[in-house]
Amino acid sequence: MLKKALIKSLHFFSSNIPLTWLKSISGQDFLAIFYHSISDSELPHLKHLYRVRGTALFEKDLDYLLKHFRPVGLAELIDAVYHNKKLPSNAFFLSFDDGLAECYHIIAPILKKKGIPATFFLNSDFVDNKALMFRYKASYLIEELTQKQVSTAQLAPFFHQYQLPFLDLKSGLLSVRWHQEALLDAIAVAFEVDFKAFLKDQKPYLNQEQILQMIGDGFTFGSHSQNHPTYNSLDLSSQIEQTLLSQAYLKQHFQLPYQTFAFPFTDSGVSKAFFDEILGEEKFPLTFGGAGLKHEVIKGQLQRFGMETQQLNTPKQLIHTEYCYYIIKSIFRKNTIYRN
Ligand SMILES: [Zn+2]
Repeated sequence: MLKKALIKSLHFFSSNIPLTWLKSISGQDFLAIFYHSISDSELPHLKHLYRVRGTALFEKDLDYLLKHFRPVGLAELIDAVYHNKKLPSNAFFLSFDDGLAECYHIIAPILKKKGIPATFFLNSDFVDNKALMFRYKASYLIEELTQKQVSTAQLAPFFHQYQLPFLDLKSGLLSVRWHQEALLDAIAVAFEVDFKAFLKDQKPYLNQEQILQMIGDGFTFGSHSQNHPTYNSLDLSSQIEQTLLSQAYLKQHFQLPYQTFAFPFTDSGVSKAFFDEILGEEKFPLTFGGAGLKHEVIKGQLQRFGMETQQLNTPKQLIHTEYCYYIIKSIFRKNTIYRN
């Protein structure tokens, strides 16, 4: 809560501080940035999770980045980490998680126009719209059940069955975790919400053909687990299995000559043993988290900063805030992630 309030006030004040100062005080001029989707129309599977940025705002983000930073691709990052090749000063690396269809329809054409490389992280279980991630199910259910005027009294028994607290439709459905996905499926069946029909009609995810075209255009792809669990809720062998099998899918279908991985949700609580198994120049040279501008003691694990928030902040607000937050954390020596 304190962090939320601080970030909110930084969105207000930080734009007055010149970016050159922020970079020089922080000593950080590399930014890794990620998004999920960009869209001008409402996406029911994302609508209740965060505010999706539109194309005009996305172009504004990119123009801001291009004005103050220089884009680098995955290969340059790997060279910088393993071969001591210096990144250009003020570099930024762009990536997109979850393999959503807008990556092909909206994002890739804009990036091509502006000459910006990017890496896209896919969940192997969802490519070709085979299934819907549980968080997207929750958002879609909120939308559909609200329209159907389903009452809290009708929903409460489902949550009691799973011994979950239940206050209202939205907070209840958003509180369901990965291992409780069956609850979302049971609610969908009971109130005739058809996830399969949604996947077929809306096609929220990329298909193989689109991915191949994007690879042909020079974009890079990595894995994001099979079905988007929270890694710190899995044991080590399941974490490794989710990672290796999702990457094996990419290798099998797209013959990628490289491997890279971005953690679904968060890498918080993931042990050093996971990285010992996964990370390395001959294995996964780079893995990515989403903890913002932060350092890692583990070589090859890089933290990214998410541009999607509950408000549609300007790129200047978002990036200046992230720098200010980094500088504040550095006073308390909270800028490095240590792992056991
Ligand atoms: Zn994700």
